Amino acid sequence: MLVAGNWKMNGTGADLDTIAQIADAARGFETVDTALCLPATLIERAARGRPAFPIGGQDVHAEQKGAHTGCVSAAMLRDAGATLTIVGHSERRQAQFETDSDVRSKAETALSSGLGVILCVGESDEVRESGSAIATVSAQLDASLPHGDAAARGVPTRFAVAYEPIWAIGTGKIPSIAEIEAMHAALRLRLLAAYGDAGDQVRILYGGSVKASNASDIFAIADVDGALVGGASLTAADFMPIVEAAADARH
Ligand code: PEP
Repeated sequence: MLVAGNWKMNGTGADLDTIAQIADAARGFETVDTALCLPATLIERAARGRPAFPIGGQDVHAEQKGAHTGCVSAAMLRDAGATLTIVGHSERRQAQFETDSDVRSKAETALSSGLGVILCVGESDEVRESGSAIATVSAQLDASLPHGDAAARGVPTRFAVAYEPIWAIGTGKIPSIAEIEAMHAALRLRLLAAYGDAGDQVRILYGGSVKASNASDIFAIADVDGALVGGASLTAADFMPIVEAAADARH
């Protein structure tokens, strides 16, 4: 199981104590890989404070360097102490107009640079209501997956997929157990088609309003290998029960 927190645009130096509390508490759950994906400005201080705890970025540029004002490269993330990054979060796909092909390039660059990658996919509420969620998200994954040398080097060990229905992010709504199970099974088939046997080892996380009260039910679903957690990752009191639920899950 992998439980990763996404702090989005939250956190300043005043929150380093919270990060340290989470990192310290996570050591008590050896069977769960725990990580926090932080604002770029916090990565170096967080990584310096708890060097053994995985700290990630929330985005990475597809190019290694150059004239890209405001962007962060894979080399910069690694230099700051990050060991992984999110790519393709729906908030970036929507607000920054990132395409599947952009997301694929970012994933390939990150993997080639030695970072782990959590690649996000997910459908809008219109798509869910139209009945085409599985077809849409499967196509999105097919077009976003890394290939070539980067994939050969990073899949499956440094690569995870996060299924995050856009309508479930930050809303308190989640899909039914059957809907999550059907989506994860479909995404597993796409990973097997893309990577052969290695596709079976890629972790598929669920994300969208995960909290202590629903985590155990979500982790009991077949092919749910962890969670990407937004709001409930901002305090140890909210986040650690989710990590504990992952530790208690049977698969
Ligand atoms: C997210 O944005 O990745 C997320 C899952 O957010 P939340 O847990 O707050 O719904």
